[in-house]
Amino acid sequence: MNRCPFFIFLAAVCFASCSHEQSVKSLLTPFEASDSTQTATYDETIQWWRDLEKTSPYVCVRAFGDTDAGLPLHAILINSSRNFNLETIQKNGKLKWLINNGIHPGEPDGIDASMLFAREILSDEEFKNTYNDIVIMIIPVYNVGGALNRNCCSRANQNGPESYGFRGNARNLDLNRDFTKADSKNAQSFIELFATWNPDVYLETHVSNGADYPYTMTYLLSHPDKLTPPLDKYVGQTLSESLLEKMKARNDEMIPYVNLFGSPPDSGYSSFYDTPRYSAGYTALHNSIGVLTETHMLKPFKQRVESTLNFLHALGETLIADAAEIKESRAKADEFLAQQSEFVIDWEIDRSKSEKLHFNGYRAYYDTSSVTGELQLYYDRSAPWEKQIDYWAHLKPLKKVTAPSYYLVPAAWNEVVHRLTLNHVEMTLLPEDTTLMVTSYKISDYKTSPQPYESHYYHYDVSMEVSTEDVKLLKNSYYIIPAQQRAKRLLVEMLEPQAPDAYFNWNFYDEILQQKEWFSSYVFDPEASQLVKNEVIAAKLNVYVDADTASRDNARSKLAFLYEQSTHYERNRHMIYPVFRIE
Ligand SMILES: [Zn+2]
Repeated sequence: MNRCPFFIFLAAVCFASCSHEQSVKSLLTPFEASDSTQTATYDETIQWWRDLEKTSPYVCVRAFGDTDAGLPLHAILINSSRNFNLETIQKNGKLKWLINNGIHPGEPDGIDASMLFAREILSDEEFKNTYNDIVIMIIPVYNVGGALNRNCCSRANQNGPESYGFRGNARNLDLNRDFTKADSKNAQSFIELFATWNPDVYLETHVSNGADYPYTMTYLLSHPDKLTPPLDKYVGQTLSESLLEKMKARNDEMIPYVNLFGSPPDSGYSSFYDTPRYSAGYTALHNSIGVLTETHMLKPFKQRVESTLNFLHALGETLIADAAEIKESRAKADEFLAQQSEFVIDWEIDRSKSEKLHFNGYRAYYDTSSVTGELQLYYDRSAPWEKQIDYWAHLKPLKKVTAPSYYLVPAAWNEVVHRLTLNHVEMTLLPEDTTLMVTSYKISDYKTSPQPYESHYYHYDVSMEVSTEDVKLLKNSYYIIPAQQRAKRLLVEMLEPQAPDAYFNWNFYDEILQQKEWFSSYVFDPEASQLVKNEVIAAKLNVYVDADTASRDNARSKLAFLYEQSTHYERNRHMIYPVFRIE
């Protein structure tokens, strides 16, 4: 199987008809042509990038991968050395920066700002020197179906543009919850691209919701506490400080993403816990730095696009300055990961230690709503304030596991195998029938969301009984997956059922939660009467009946309990998590 069609696709040489900064400079964007009132449509966006490709020899536009809308994704490579072959780019040591726009096409600022950014850096006479150590890849519109579903009004809180795309993709999926479960073709194409391209830094552009405050730009980084050392230090200190400083120098002061809905920032707020379903959590699994822009929805569209453009320059300048440090930090993080055996798989906000954040806000007040009759939060923009507020920046570990030497993943659950393959996980099919000593999990309890969430009935609060046993495994029935590989952290967080975004929690293994065979009471009752002659089983039945009052007078419940003690019960299947560990 060819896992890297993208290599071949981009290996095609991009020819540019001419090369001079003036022609690049004259390429107006739809945003500019509309006097900053419109965001480019999907067709206009792709056309603009194709026009840029014709104008600049440093730009290559290629389609790759499917989307649920039936149209391909596009990627634009910008490389001063004019190499557009992903395979050879990997070898030349440049820093790789991936920019992803339009994941939520109702939040289109980055779609337009990326065009302006590319044009500005390419029309700079110093481009070849300035961007000598960085290759940029831009996905102009990730959620193609959402971009095509253009409308005037689905962003109730947003100040422009006049029309924009929709949050859900062609299947109404939120792609920024889809990086691990990968229900959408968009996500599957993205994952394959990400694994192939292995970017050092990933930027995704958004528009925020929530509280009101004066800042246009807020930003979010892969949570430093979750990053592998020394990336945690680089992101938490150097990168964060550089971005804040460079935005301030552009007279566009920003603040960490204001993670508040329904309450004002006066008494502080916490950082965002980015589990791997979100992009910044997903990139962290690969020791890649995730960065998100979240412009404030109530600021005018023009102001938001300009702020996103400022951020692109601020990040670009930071990456130019820090390219060597980032690559070195990443290499060390890979080394750390190779030695790492214990992994935190779930976190929570640490409320015991807050940092002081200098914040500019608007006076919040409550007034009785004429509609609901209840107190309603409002903001008074004529009454700004400035003070130190609490910022709960840190996470604390909730659950830890030790990585095994190998995972054994059943081939029959091909949807899981497919996702691991997209992530370039190395695995081999069991070559012959064998018996192995494994650690196995029996799911003893879990909760399930009563409402569908992103096309799943999500599980959480999973607990398991752990046991060690010899299991007979048939040839070709299992993939042997060494944990010691680049995807080590991804494997742990996808295959350990207590990790919040584990495949188990996204219903990929729900088959094992259902019992397949049953019994007729009139047939089993005589056998059950023999079973209770066993003192141990009789004692267990008493404990069960005592603990579960509903079963006390329920004959079927008692028989069902005894059935579970009998040889008929499918104890190697029912509630047995089918992924095994070899320690
Ligand atoms: Zn968004």
